[in-house]
Amino acid sequence: MPGFELFGPEERKEINDVMDTGILMRYGFDGPRKGIWKSKELEAAICSTLGCEFAQLTSSGTSALSTALACLGIGVGDEVIMPTFTFVASFESVLSVGAIPVLVDVDETLTLAPDAVRRAITPRTKCVMPVHMCGAMADLDALAQICREHNLILLEDACQSFGARYKGRALGTIGHAGTFSFDFVKTITCGEGGAVITNDKDLYIKCDGYTDHGHDHAGTDRGADLHPFIGYNYRISELHAAIGLAQIKKLDHFLSIQKKNHSQLKAIFANVAEISFRHIPDADGDTCTFLSWFLPTEEITRAVVAELRQQNILAGNFYWFDNNWHYFRKWDHLRKAATLNNLNEEQRKTLVSLKLDDFPASDRILSRCVSTAIGLTWTEEQTKEKGEKIVAAIRKVLAREKAPAA
Ligand SMILES: *Cc1c(COP(=O)(O)O)cnc(C)c1O
Repeated sequence: MPGFELFGPEERKEINDVMDTGILMRYGFDGPRKGIWKSKELEAAICSTLGCEFAQLTSSGTSALSTALACLGIGVGDEVIMPTFTFVASFESVLSVGAIPVLVDVDETLTLAPDAVRRAITPRTKCVMPVHMCGAMADLDALAQICREHNLILLEDACQSFGARYKGRALGTIGHAGTFSFDFVKTITCGEGGAVITNDKDLYIKCDGYTDHGHDHAGTDRGADLHPFIGYNYRISELHAAIGLAQIKKLDHFLSIQKKNHSQLKAIFANVAEISFRHIPDADGDTCTFLSWFLPTEEITRAVVAELRQQNILAGNFYWFDNNWHYFRKWDHLRKAATLNNLNEEQRKTLVSLKLDDFPASDRILSRCVSTAIGLTWTEEQTKEKGEKIVAAIRKVLAREKAPAA
């Protein structure tokens, strides 16, 4: 990961197709575009790759989430259950539609703990939003079961996990809808972009209009379109879609490299008894964009991370506990409800009632978790060297821990 590591003539060719016509907009201009419809082509490729009926491209993963939530009818007064470990876009999108983000503990799957989800359900809960972090899946059987029992919407944030599968089905196709991001650091990239996928035609038609100012796309030209509801501009451009089209054709290639490097690295780590690995409900479906591992205590983990940094084995090793983007403890702006415009009263009350120590179970997981990003360009030799350096750093810290205090 990510797809930008392997850019080349394929991306350039797709871009040039668009430049040759000069039509950068995904809708209209039927004559001058000379049959070039990159966004439509990418949507069809997403459907065939993932095995779903409908895909709606968007300008980003964040706008894909906002679109999915709004089109699923989630709004003011509704509670959406989301994990404490995710990207900030999870709560941004929930807040953007007027709904209330309800933070819930994660377990060793690195996303929603099913028991914690059950405890968080109230009469106002409308949606459960697991986030398939770092290329692999939530415990989807358990979460789907909870949603069925309580008549809740299951929205899969698969932004980090394009191409991952759970028991043979692509992530994003199991819930009522799924979302993806194609930003610059994701598995495949458009530069910026995203998508909502679903098998529900009605939902898809809403997404199609919502992302384009409510246009029904049924008129003879854009001026003749009707607007059955209010939407926004969350469109992708043809240039971005063109890049994505080149990238999606390389997906299988990316995944096979990642799987190879991941299993080589994991075999090296497995020599250390103190390392345990993230629980992956279906290991065959992991995209292997990351190898996530745990050490026995927060102290040992901090010392290992410090050692890795000191030795400059920093790149690609993420210690999530201190990460400004991904873990609840660093979301001060959320806990202060620091928005520039008004939240509704229910949203504000929920946010300001959050306390730093509300999630000890998540703290126990994230304070011991390091994720190593798997490179697409690593040679076998480089993977071996990287693995051995990390293991050596861990052994050094463990030896220090065991040594009697001087
Ligand atoms: C990247 C990401 C998003 C948002 O995607 P953007 O395209 O950057 O807006 C949402 N959720 C998760 C889990 C992500 O990693």
